[in-house]
Amino acid sequence: MKAYVVEREALIHNIQALKRFAGDVPIWGVLKGNGYGIGLIPLARHLWENGITRFAVTEMKEAEHLREAFPECEILMMRSTADPAEINELLDLNVILTIGSYETAVAVNSIAGERSTVASVHLCIDTGMGRYGFFPDQTDKIISIYDYMKSLAVEGIFTHFHSAFCSEKATRQQFEQFTQLLDKLQDAGYETGMAHCCNSAAFLKYPEMHLDGVRLGSALLGRLSFQSKLNLKKIGYAECTVEEIRTIPKGSTVGYAAGFKAKEQTRVAVIGLGWYNGFTAERQNDLFRVRDSLWAILRHIRDIFIRRNIIVTVNGHKCRVLGHVGMVHAVVDVTDIDCALGDKVVAQVNPLTVKGLRIQYR
Ligand SMILES: *Cc1c(COP(=O)(O)O)cnc(C)c1O
Repeated sequence: MKAYVVEREALIHNIQALKRFAGDVPIWGVLKGNGYGIGLIPLARHLWENGITRFAVTEMKEAEHLREAFPECEILMMRSTADPAEINELLDLNVILTIGSYETAVAVNSIAGERSTVASVHLCIDTGMGRYGFFPDQTDKIISIYDYMKSLAVEGIFTHFHSAFCSEKATRQQFEQFTQLLDKLQDAGYETGMAHCCNSAAFLKYPEMHLDGVRLGSALLGRLSFQSKLNLKKIGYAECTVEEIRTIPKGSTVGYAAGFKAKEQTRVAVIGLGWYNGFTAERQNDLFRVRDSLWAILRHIRDIFIRRNIIVTVNGHKCRVLGHVGMVHAVVDVTDIDCALGDKVVAQVNPLTVKGLRIQYR
């Protein structure tokens, strides 16, 4: 038995806490990456049952599966596409399309026109994320969509923050650019529909930025890189069993590169979790900025001096991992605890990095 266990109660707790905090502002449940690793449809079902009926995705398959399971839900394709096959399918599925460029607008407008229908779209504004979207100063282009593209119905407009988790200044600048554009469009008499910019971090930190909607992903899973007052819970953990118990004599080594050498006789348990399963992939470093690299190096140096043990729970007791974690195995010290073959092992693993584990809702 190897599984990633999702605790229903914790998930529902998070959904309800987020809903309460959002008040009247609608929440888009962001479900990309197979629902952040815990299953597109199961996560969507929990959202639906708790009153969140709007879903945001990035893949065609996600839109297909959601539409099949929830005929009545709203689906926003957050990625802009000019591919005729994708546009046709999104229209078939009654999905809201993102318009991230003039070219996309032309493509969607012409296909919707041919189909004698009007496509529901949200305009994407690039305030610094740099993937899709009009720049806030491309007002003329944006306005020409309203003026000339009669087969597009602009029902919303959004931008995406790049640093909500780490920089208030950058986020406020992006917000400012976005809201100035909104004002400009509205002053000129154009309806912007649902304006939305918050991801989880911005939603929790800057309530004044909620506008007409928010897009939440990681907060649903209680996985944030900062402390939030909402008391969100981590919704899951990896579970496996003790596969072998051995007593190794003083001087024995454990794992690749003999990363652990027993200073005394030690009782060890072999557990069926390794880096392939996402175990200890937790502290992957983003090394995009010089500052990130420096921090990573400093952490690395600190770890050389202060051995930070990786801890799992065996049979309810905390145990440290000995040596390097293998691909699908790790070895833990059980000298001081009661444990037997088949006992339950629990470990913290980020669901986004989970592989080879069955997702199980309990
Ligand atoms: C992933 C994503 C979100 C959700 O981000 P979280 O930080 O996980 O809440 C919102 N908007 C867009 C455009 C995204 O790509």
